[in-house]
Amino acid sequence: MFAILDNFKKNIEVEERESAPHQIVAVGVRWNRHIEHLIREFMNDPYIVITAMEEAALYGNVQQVVESSSVFCLKMHKEMVFNLKSVLEQWKKKLSSGSHIVLALTDDCIPLLAITDATCVIHFSFPSSPKIFGGRLYCMSDHFQSLPEQGSPAKQGDKRTKSVLLLTERSACHAVGVLRYLERADAKIPSELYQFTAGVLEAKEDKKAKKPLCPYLKAFGFCKHKRLCPDRHHINPEIDMPRKLSNQAIPVFGYIKIIPFYILNATNYFGRIVDKHVDLYATLNAEMKEYFEDSSNKTTIEKVEKLGLYGLTEKTLFHRVQVLEVSQKEDTWAQDNVLVKFIDEGRTGHVTRDQLLHLPENFHILPPQAVEFIVCRVKPADNEIEWNPKVTRYIHHKIIGKLHDAKVVLALGNTVWIDPMVHITKLLNLKTSVIDYNVRAEILSMGMGIDNSEHIEQLKKLSEGAKIRTVEESPSQTLMTSAAADAACLQSTQKGDRGAGGGADSETNSENQKHETSPENTTDASVNKTTEPLQSFHPQIKWFQKDDVVILKIKIRNVKDYKCKYFRDRVIFSAWAGEKFYLADLHLQANIVKDGCRCVVEGDEPVITLAKQRRESWCSLLKQRNPNVAFDFDHWEECEEESHFSKVTYSKNPSCKVAEVIEDSDQTSEDDGSESE
Ligand SMILES: [Zn+2]
Repeated sequence: MFAILDNFKKNIEVEERESAPHQIVAVGVRWNRHIEHLIREFMNDPYIVITAMEEAALYGNVQQVVESSSVFCLKMHKEMVFNLKSVLEQWKKKLSSGSHIVLALTDDCIPLLAITDATCVIHFSFPSSPKIFGGRLYCMSDHFQSLPEQGSPAKQGDKRTKSVLLLTERSACHAVGVLRYLERADAKIPSELYQFTAGVLEAKEDKKAKKPLCPYLKAFGFCKHKRLCPDRHHINPEIDMPRKLSNQAIPVFGYIKIIPFYILNATNYFGRIVDKHVDLYATLNAEMKEYFEDSSNKTTIEKVEKLGLYGLTEKTLFHRVQVLEVSQKEDTWAQDNVLVKFIDEGRTGHVTRDQLLHLPENFHILPPQAVEFIVCRVKPADNEIEWNPKVTRYIHHKIIGKLHDAKVVLALGNTVWIDPMVHITKLLNLKTSVIDYNVRAEILSMGMGIDNSEHIEQLKKLSEGAKIRTVEESPSQTLMTSAAADAACLQSTQKGDRGAGGGADSETNSENQKHETSPENTTDASVNKTTEPLQSFHPQIKWFQKDDVVILKIKIRNVKDYKCKYFRDRVIFSAWAGEKFYLADLHLQANIVKDGCRCVVEGDEPVITLAKQRRESWCSLLKQRNPNVAFDFDHWEECEEESHFSKVTYSKNPSCKVAEVIEDSDQTSEDDGSESE
C-alpha cells in the first residue's frame, strides 16, 4: 500500500491543481499505529475524527500497565475483634505471585494484629500524632532496610516500602509532628502543611509565656535543644523587666562592684551588688547585727512557715533567710530539716528549726539582694552545653566571697550580664591598682572554654523585639511590702507596679486585643446592642474537641454578667471582668446544635461546650484565623501518650533495627511537645 502512496505522492508533486485538490480519506473501525506514518508522510493538513472513546485513549498514548494479579480485600475494626483470627489467617496465606492482599483497618486494631510484613501503607485518615503514624508504618517493619541494604536509590526500585498520605484540610490539626517526620524522610511537603503548622507552633509558644527564661539562652545566647527544652526562649516584658533591688532597679549598664556568694557553674553565680554610695544592705546588715547581738532578741520560732522570712546566725554573721521546705517529720534524728534560701546571697542550705530566729517586720522591707550574674562571651569547648566541673571548681575557689569589678552589658529580671568581671588588687604603697585576674580570660586560658562573641547580640536581639520597660518609667512604684518581697524572692517578678486589673491578661495581650476587636465591634452592633458605645477586648480562647462536642476555655477570670448566644454556625460570648468588657464573636467552620450548647464557669474561667451537629473531627474552630484563639495543647499531648503505651505493650520483634525506629519516633513527638519556632 505504501508503494501506491509513494507513487501518488510523486504524481501530485508535479502539478498542483487549484480547482480540484487531491484528497486522501482513510477510514477504519480501529485505530492503527500505521496511520501515524500515513498522516506524517502523506497528508498536509490532516483532520482526525475518532468516535470511540477507547480508541481515542489509544491514539492519546495512555500508558497501559497490565499485571496478572488479583486483589484480595480484608477489613478489620474494633467491633470485629471476634474475627481477628480469621483475618490474620487470611493475611498470612501464601497467595500465588502477583496477587495482592489489601487490609482496611482502624488504628486501634494495629496492635492486636501485630502485622509487620506489609509493603505499603495508605493512610485513609491523617495520623493524629507521630506515634500513631509510626504505629502504622511499623506494619512494614519486616521490610525496613538497614543502611548497607539500602544502596543507591536506583537499585532500591520496587523494594522500597511505601507510605501514602492523603492531605486534606481536615488533617492539619495533627500535622506538626508528622511534618517533622516527613522532613526527615525527605518527603515532598505541600506548602499548606507548613502554613498550618506555623500557627500551631505559635500557640505552643504562647503557653510558655510564664515559664522561666531558658538557662542556656541566658548563659550562651542560644539553646541547642530549643525544641525539647521546656523553658521560654523569648523575652516576656512582664517577667523580664529588671527587678527592683532597693529604691532603684538592677542596673542595666555601667560599672558595678559585686560579691559572688553562690557559684552555680563557671560563668553563672548568685551574689550581691555593692553600692558604694548608699548601700542599703550594709545598713540593714549593721542594724540586724546590733539587734541580734542582744541575746534577748534571739526569739526562736514555734511554728516554721513555708515561704516565711526569718533571721539566721552563722558564726558572727546574721542573714535573712526564706523557708523553702519544711520536713514534716518531727523526729529528733533528722535535725537538718528546713531548707532555706539566703535571700541576700542566693545560696540555699539545710538548717535546723532552732537556728531560725524571729525577724522583725522592719527587716523585711528591703527586697532580696541576691542577683544572678552571668559572665559573657565564653562557652564550654567541644560544643558542650555544661561546664566541666573542673573549671567550675577552679572558678569557685578563685572568686567566692571576693569583691569584683564588673561592667553591666544587659539586665533582665533578676539577672545581670557582665563583661568583663575582674578582680583588682590595690598596691597600697604605689597608690595604683592592678587587675589580678579577668574571669573570662581565666576560663579561656584553662582551655576549658572558647570565645562566644555572639552571646550578647543574640540576647539583645530578643529583648529589642519585646520592648522592656525600665523601672524609672513605671508609675507609682513603692518599696515592696514584706509579703510581696517573699513572693519576689522565689519568683523574682514584680507585682507592685501592675495596675489593678492586671491578673489574667498581660500587657501585650491587651494591646493585641484592642486592635483585633475594634473592626468586629461595628459588625456586632445589630446582634448585641448593649455593646455599641463600649470598647471591648477579645478574650484569649483555648479550644479542644471530643467526638460530639467542642470545648472552649475562655481565659478570663472573675467574670460578671457573662452571656453566650448560639447560632447555627456562630457563637457570641460577652462578659465583664473588672473594668473591662470582653467580647468574642466566633464564626465557626461547622454547624452546631443550639440546644445542646452551654456555658458555665468552671474553676474561675468560663467554659463553653458546643454540641457538634455531626460527629466529625473539626480541623479548626473558626472560619478564619484569629490570633486570640488557639488549640489547647494540654489535650493534644494526652492523646499522644495513649498511643505511646499501646504501642510499647504490643510490639514484638525487639530487634536492633526496630529499637532504632521506636526511639526515633519518640524523639519526634517530644520535639513537638515543646517547640518554639
Ligand atoms: Zn532552652
